[in-house]
Amino acid sequence: MDSKTLGTVVSVIMFVVAALFLGCGALFLLSAFSAQAADPGGRLCIGGVLVIIALAGVAGGIFLVARARMADQKVVIEQKIDLTGDIESKGLTCQQCGAPLDSNSVSITGGAVFVKCPYCGANYQIIEEPKW
Ligand SMILES: [Zn+2]
Repeated sequence: MDSKTLGTVVSVIMFVVAALFLGCGALFLLSAFSAQAADPGGRLCIGGVLVIIALAGVAGGIFLVARARMADQKVVIEQKIDLTGDIESKGLTCQQCGAPLDSNSVSITGGAVFVKCPYCGANYQIIEEPKW
């Protein structure tokens, strides 16, 4: 189980626990206002605390989900770099001699594309426009 799956599972558990706390808190608050309540003040306090815990749980769950989404976006960007590099290398020709370049003569380092021409020995970097 990777950290992303773990985060999703933890956030789901937090949402479920928060829902339980919210339900119990709502019951306590409702009973505090009913005529038969023996200790309305105490029930109001317990209900309030339960609702606050529930809201904290929901906030924590949302935070975890948002963090998981950000991790997803990062992965997508990394894939885009690989993809553009792949496409570039297939239709690429040497800027100096015009020879077709295969993937062996093109390397990607830190998102930048480096070309080493096997025909004329040219060695240069292709400046890529950001695509995101
Ligand atoms: Zn060349």
